[in-house]
Parts: sequence; structure tokens; C-alpha cells
Amino acid sequence: MTEEKRPSNFIENIIDEDNEKGTYGGEVYTRFPPEPNGYLHIGHAKSICLNFGLAKKYGGRCNLRYDDTNPAKEDVEYVDSIEEDVKWLGFEWTERRWASDYFDTMYKAACELISKGLAYVDDQDADTIHATRGTLTEPGQESPCRNRTPEENQALFEEMKAGRYGDGEKVLRARIDMASPNINMRDPIIYRIAHKTHHNTGDKWCIYPMYDFAHPIEDAIEGITHSICTLEFEDHRPLYNWVLEKVGFWPNPPKQIEFARLNLTHTMMSKRKLKKLVDEGVVEGWDDPRMPTIAGIRRRGYTPASIRNFCEQIGVAKANSLVDQGQLEHCVREDLQDKVESRHVVEKPIKVVLTNYPAGRVEEIEIEKNRNNPDLGTRKVPFSGTFYIDGEDFMENPPKKYFRMYPGNEVRIKGAYLVTCREVVKDEAGNITELRCTYDPESRGGNAPDGRKVKGTIHFVEASTAVKIRVRNYGDLMIEDEAGEEVLNPSSVEEEICYAEPILAEARPGERFQFFRHGYYVADTKLCTDEEKVFNRIVGLKSSWKPGK
Ligand code: ATP
Ligand code: MG
Repeated sequence: MTEEKRPSNFIENIIDEDNEKGTYGGEVYTRFPPEPNGYLHIGHAKSICLNFGLAKKYGGRCNLRYDDTNPAKEDVEYVDSIEEDVKWLGFEWTERRWASDYFDTMYKAACELISKGLAYVDDQDADTIHATRGTLTEPGQESPCRNRTPEENQALFEEMKAGRYGDGEKVLRARIDMASPNINMRDPIIYRIAHKTHHNTGDKWCIYPMYDFAHPIEDAIEGITHSICTLEFEDHRPLYNWVLEKVGFWPNPPKQIEFARLNLTHTMMSKRKLKKLVDEGVVEGWDDPRMPTIAGIRRRGYTPASIRNFCEQIGVAKANSLVDQGQLEHCVREDLQDKVESRHVVEKPIKVVLTNYPAGRVEEIEIEKNRNNPDLGTRKVPFSGTFYIDGEDFMENPPKKYFRMYPGNEVRIKGAYLVTCREVVKDEAGNITELRCTYDPESRGGNAPDGRKVKGTIHFVEASTAVKIRVRNYGDLMIEDEAGEEVLNPSSVEEEICYAEPILAEARPGERFQFFRHGYYVADTKLCTDEEKVFNRIVGLKSSWKPGK
């Protein structure tokens, strides 16, 4: 792609227009408004990058606002995790707000609507209200309570507030239009009774505002200019505008702009569903490296830059789509490939003994720290006449075009020597116990003195200094079953004990490496101990996803 690096999107067009017209005096003020009822996921990362990113780009401001108008139990754990995630992604909020701090203003706004004849207390229960909403082709039915006087409504609303009624006995509805083609405008409920203790306001309130009424007021109170939300709210926009216009407290109200939510292949994107996986113990927690939560992705070893780049690449659109998980993987590979050092690790190790190598000798082999980036320099790896190779790098009866080790074949042991397999030693059960080989002492560094061609290059781990590490290779959280339905992948993690070069025993939690030929790995931030290092595969080396595909 050779287009300009930062494609301006439709939201930026709207902001540019507002700035030209002076709608908000050149101000850009956005907010990220999570409900603190779970950990944030990669979909939220898109919203975070968008809201904070716009503020950054336009020299504006962005609030972190907890949407806690629902008195459902909320957890400090969630609040802490949300803040950690936003900071980890590299953003700082201008102010941290709680929607519940605005309950007084919301109550006043509701009274204002009542006094203007634009809201009424309805005695009907939720089911009846739902059943009389009408359909896309038929108008709704007016409630028998619709024509109560403002005085009557005010008195009833005050009684609701005072706790005279039980949950669901009465609601406050906006009085708009029961025949509106937009069902959201057919006298939506704006306040309901819930005798629940709120984490912030305690038992001060037993009536709570509905989202569609509360959200525009929260935005307006904070002086938000552009209130960005996902596409499901497009049909709610007339109500958003109606509330601000009819309440009338704010002369220069914010505008709601919708964009398509992020959906990713082979995973799920809903706090509720993710919480279920956690509660049922299907995963190890919210930060399980298979989870699409920001905490999981972080523990998996993704970098903040790779997530920001991903969000930038996928852009913002007005139509929902499904993004290939491969694109996310591509972004982290791209970020790591020139930065992290490579390490030698062998899975399913096979022991190799060089029969003509001097007994007891251990030498040091110099290898590049990162093949893509020579500037990082070189480092030393021990080598001797006994070492391990990867189980995948040997075949007793290889197919054509197999260039790695097999009986009689000469291969290059990376950075060391040319080695030929002479004999396969097995135990009584027929398992390979070692490969007896010879090496060419003249080939140090891996080049034949006579220039003969050796096609295969394989890596090694010297035996006497090898350390055992635990490696966790991850697959997709969700896979397609026979019926084409996305279901939980029953084997989304595979654990292996591997042999590694000794330097990996010193890996610090969170440190990232390329394991030669296996992929990019991170030392797990929870499970590494002094005795044992555990590594998560961030991503494999090769991609099925191609830019521009
Ligand atoms: P979930 O269904 O996973 O709980 P939500 O939309 O209910 O998601 P909120 O905490 O209400 O979660 O969302 C905070 C912000 O993040 C909202 O502005 C919402 O639009 C945005 N958001 C949530 N999911 C996505 C997504 N998949 N893609 C983009 N933005 C998202
Ligand atoms: Mg929600």
C-alpha cells in the first residue's frame, strides 16, 4: 500500500467540518465510556484508540467515563483492569468520571421534561409496554397514562423517587410519538425503579435512568463534542438528540457518531460471554493468553504498538465486517521482527552425538542476535559433541525434498559445523535414543571448505548446558464445527517441555524472543519462577494473512 499513512476517515471528516464551521469553537472532546462489568477486549481497544487517538490528533481531550448508571454489582477489579489497559495501550485520560455522579442532573432533566409535558409516569408493566410498542409496520398503542398532567406526573415521579413503589410498578416514559417509524421514539422508558444499592450513591436512589436518556446527558455535562459509539446505536441517535434538545440545558450539545464494531474471526467479542468462560473455569482467568481481552493479549506477549497499528490498519467504517485474526498476528510479527533476539529451543528433542568430536570440549559459536537486524550484533552460544535437535528436524525415511537430517545426509548445524548422520540408535521399544553423526572439523561457521552444497540448516541446543523450559503453544479460542458453527476449541493450548540454551533460564517475565524456526514467545508474567521458565507463543513465524488480501 502506497497511499498516505493515515487515511482520514469519515469521523475525521465530520470533525474537520465542525472545526471549519466553528461548531465547537475548534474543540475536540471525546470520551471512552466502558461499563465496569468485565475486562476490556480487543473491540474496546478499537474504541480506545479511536477516541483517545482523535483527541491526540486534534490537540483535544478525552475522558475515561465509567458508565455505571446500572446499579448492578460492579467490581473494583474491573475498574483497575480498565485503567491498566488504557494506560498500557499508551493513552492518558483528561479526566476520570463516573456517570453516577450526574444522577442529580439527570433527575432534574427528567423533571424538566415532565414540566414541559414531555414525560409521563406509566403504571403499565414492562411486558405490557413492550407488547404495545407496535411493529415496523404498525404504530404502537398509547398508554392510558399518557395524558396525565405535568403536576400529576411530577407528584408520581417524586413518589417513585421516595420509594413508594416496588421494582417495575411504575416507569417514567418520554412522551414522543407512538406512531414514529423509529420504534426507539415510541415513548421510550427513561427511568425505572430498582431497589438496589449502588456502589457509588449507596441507597440514595431507587430510581435509575435508562442508557438512552443518561448517555447524552453524561456527554453534555462533560462538554463532549463528538460522542462516538458503535453502529447498534444509529437508530437511537434521534432519541439522543431529542433528549438534549428537549431538556434544553445545554446550548451546544454533543453529536453522536456511529462506527462499525470490531469483530474478529475465531474468537468472541462480548464481556458477558467472556465472563462465562472465566466463571466456568474454561480458561485460566480474564488474562488467559487465549482470551481476546486486552489483559489476555498483553499476557500473550502482544505489544501496545502492535495493537495500535492494528486498530489503525483496520480503520473505522460504517459497515460491520469480520476482521481476520491473521491481521492482528501480522501486526505483532511486524513489530517484533526487527527488535527481539532469537533463541535456540528444541521441541521433542533428539540427542545427537558427534563420534569424531574431541571428548569434553565445549566451544562457543557466534550467531546473530536478529537475522533481520544486523545492527543488534551477535552473541555466543555453547556447542559440543553432544547436542539436541528438534524432533521435526529428523526423519528416518524422509520424503523427497526433505533437506534436514536423515541417515546419510549432511546438514548445517546453524553457525557451527556440517554434520552427517551415520547411525540411528534405538531402545528395545524402537524409540530413537540418539543419532550418531560425524562432523567436518574444517567447516566451522557452517561452510564447506570445498564449497560443496549443503541445503538444510537446523538449530541445536548443546546438551551439557541445556535447560528445560515449559512452552505453551496456543491455537484459536473458537473453531468451526462440522455444521459451520463457531464453537470452543477443545485443544486451544498445547504444552511442551523443551530444551533451550542456558541463557533462557535468565529470561525476565514479559521478555520476548524469537525461538528459532518456532515463532515469537514471551516469558509468562505469572508462571515464571526461579526454577522454571514458562513461555507463551505470541504468534508463529509465518502468516496466512497478507496485506491487501
Ligand atoms: P460488551 O458487549 O462486550 O460488553 P459493550 O459495548 O457493552 O461491549 P461497553 O463497556 O458498554 O461494552 O463499551 C465501551 C465502549 O466500547 C463503547 O463505546 C462501545 O461502543 C465500545 N465497544 C465495545 N465493543 C466494541 C467492539 N467490538 N468494537 C468497537 N468498539 C466497541
Ligand atoms: Mg454494555
